[in-house]
Amino acid sequence: MRTIQLHIRSSLPSNLHPLWELARNVWWSWNSNAINLFRRINPQEYEASGPCPLKLLNTLPSSTWDSLKEDDGFLEHLSEVYKEFLDYLETGTNKVTDYKNSNTIAYFSMEFGLHESIPLYSGGLGVLSGDHLKTASDLSLPLVGVGLFYSEGYFRQILNKDGWQIENYDVNDPFYLPMQLMVESSNKPILVDVEIAGTKIYFQIWKLNVGKIPLYLMDTNVPENSGENRLITSRLYAGGQELRIQQEIILGVGGTRALQKIQIQPSVYHLNEGHSAFLTLERISQLIKKGLDWQEALIAIKGTQIFTVHTPVPAGNDVFPAQMLAHYLGDLYKNYGIPDNEFFNLGRPPDNHAEFSMPVFALRTSGHRNGVSQLHKRVSKKIWKPLWPDLLDSEVPINGITNGIHTRTWLCNELVELFDFYLGKGWDAKLNDLAIWKRIENIPNTEIWNIHMTRKSRLLSSIPKSYLSPEYLTIGFARRFASYKRGNLIFRDIERLKKLMQNKERPIQLIISGKSHPADHLGKEIIQSVVKFIQNENLNSNIVFLENYDMQIAHKLVRGIDVWLNTPIRPLEASATSGMKVAINGGLNFSILDGWWDEAYHEDLGWCIGTREMLANESLRDERDAQSLYDTLEFAIVPLYYSSKVPNEWIEKMKKSIATLTPRFSANRMLMDYTNQSYLPAAKFYEKWSMHSTEQIDALKRHINNVKELKEQWLQVEVTRVELKPSDTVNVGETVTLQVEIYSPFPENWLEVNLVFAKSDNNKSEIINKDIVIPCVEKDSGKKFIYVTLLETTNPEIRTYNIRVCPNPILFPEHLDLNLVAR
Ligand SMILES: *Cc1c(COP(=O)(O)O)cnc(C)c1O
Repeated sequence: MRTIQLHIRSSLPSNLHPLWELARNVWWSWNSNAINLFRRINPQEYEASGPCPLKLLNTLPSSTWDSLKEDDGFLEHLSEVYKEFLDYLETGTNKVTDYKNSNTIAYFSMEFGLHESIPLYSGGLGVLSGDHLKTASDLSLPLVGVGLFYSEGYFRQILNKDGWQIENYDVNDPFYLPMQLMVESSNKPILVDVEIAGTKIYFQIWKLNVGKIPLYLMDTNVPENSGENRLITSRLYAGGQELRIQQEIILGVGGTRALQKIQIQPSVYHLNEGHSAFLTLERISQLIKKGLDWQEALIAIKGTQIFTVHTPVPAGNDVFPAQMLAHYLGDLYKNYGIPDNEFFNLGRPPDNHAEFSMPVFALRTSGHRNGVSQLHKRVSKKIWKPLWPDLLDSEVPINGITNGIHTRTWLCNELVELFDFYLGKGWDAKLNDLAIWKRIENIPNTEIWNIHMTRKSRLLSSIPKSYLSPEYLTIGFARRFASYKRGNLIFRDIERLKKLMQNKERPIQLIISGKSHPADHLGKEIIQSVVKFIQNENLNSNIVFLENYDMQIAHKLVRGIDVWLNTPIRPLEASATSGMKVAINGGLNFSILDGWWDEAYHEDLGWCIGTREMLANESLRDERDAQSLYDTLEFAIVPLYYSSKVPNEWIEKMKKSIATLTPRFSANRMLMDYTNQSYLPAAKFYEKWSMHSTEQIDALKRHINNVKELKEQWLQVEVTRVELKPSDTVNVGETVTLQVEIYSPFPENWLEVNLVFAKSDNNKSEIINKDIVIPCVEKDSGKKFIYVTLLETTNPEIRTYNIRVCPNPILFPEHLDLNLVAR
């Protein structure tokens, strides 16, 4: 039997046509006026559609449009929203520093969480990518997203009677998704191909509009492929390594080819996690075609490549056996003229010769690297130190750019309106202006509290068959059930928990939600144990488990919860972002000092669990953290919440938390950091060595020769004398002159001499806790150079410094990667 599908679109009257445009751009999802517009068409059908405006428009009968086209109120609303939309798109000049519009940034990610109706994400990584695109749009950064189109997305979670997770996959028809197929002038889909394991795999390209930002999605589901190959991109994080490596080749190599095919020439590439790192191969091959050899090409692309590392676990998951790599990628790198061994070496962890690690490969081929919180930066430096054997931990070239969230996506409407009134309209365009956030103090406590209670009631009433009451302290815990997140820590002492929760006057309610990766048996067991606890201990009226955690549930939870609990094993939570979503809505964080909370925590803003000490003994550690959790609940959180009907001290905390954390952990701040620390220097590098002219190719070849010379003669570089004047012991207030004498065979500007602060015996010297560049003041006729700097002394202490000589980063942007250091 043959089946064929016919898609029939609604035919809207011409004065309603702007609805199509609005529905085809994700912009609607973070704009309350647009949401209200679609909702008023038919509130029930709006919710039932996902909510997904495109589905709504293609579901309602023609009679709806016949009456709407004459509804003046609606038409006025529509033209207002449509004007807002066009105005938004037109504010085209970018508001970020002096980043040039011509330097396109290509942002690659395995997942994008834009909205619950667009199922291209599994969790935090995807939501971060989605928020990155939305914020790039707000700031008019010239960025394009690159990802995969998963027709079956990530799984929908159902728990069976035993609390065991069942995974269901729904088919997502592109008909209902706000994307268009990229087509040739003849209207045929543009096809791109990649050779994988000896077979040409074809894919088409979808374009999804995120405000001003296009997101391009590769899709292998085309008739030109065999049945099996059509399914390569059908599901996110499903299947084994064989499928994963093929998806990653399509994403990295295919995505780069697709951009070229549609005539987008990025200056800068940003890899969100290592999944897309094969793009390096394609970029190198494009330069080889322009006459570079592969090592020259590597240097050229490296300076323009940014890698954001997420996993704080050294092994990570994204590691392929070398043989598998040769099988799937062999054709590609042989055609590229890269010797097998040299290519493998780039991805080989120092301690394992049979594996190819995507994060290692990405770290070695990207000139800019960052972790996603300040703690995660320090942890990453330690983990990846073996890749830079000559550097100290602190010198390992990995930055910290703490994650942030797209405020308008996560903030509830009621607070948007309240902020419009008390902070002044336009506050969201000036998120980084701290003076604006001080105005939160002016909001009367009862106003904020009433909004919070309304949101909380709405959350609780949306839970079917729930006994929860909005009067009671309500805690939320929702995230992936990976074992390091310790989803069951709160159940460690079940008697104490029961006593606390079932207290007659001051009960506690808990809402839990979260999926476990399909292959993570341990994670599923934790979910099951949680569900069993609730059943066996008769905690149904205090605890609910919400199935199928996704962005829709996240939205409701973060806007309605009193307290947000997070209990990871420190320091395994790279950042986490859900606590930020809670904070901007007035919820209070109660968490282990890990990820973002390690840098955000202050006693005025919320609570911490445990201490920063990382105990090796797991049982002692869990016991300490659980006790701290119960104690803080019993003696701090519960009394404060129940102090009165309108708990003023609690509300003061909410206000401080909103005012302090909203600007600091916004994606606006995050993108400014990326722009200043990574995008701008990468774009400058591109402009200098962008390979468009023969002069630039020649400059690059000269550069490579200089690097060769550096390597050959480096051993001659020597620190011959270090002196402190007047003496190495002085009184506070005296200025000390540091003089360093260096012997070097190179021109003076080839070297940079740094004073690296190692430690202070009383930790008072934070201000000077930065590398200082010591200028050269003198060179004698031979090969001796004198470097001098002045040191201020403000506190009595003993300071330890290191002197470090390395290639000058201005001439050699890859300076720390050359492993050329003299001390
Ligand atoms: C924000 C969000 C996450 C991130 O969770 P963390 O544990 O805070 O990293 C995961 N899933 C969904 C659906 C989210 O909205």
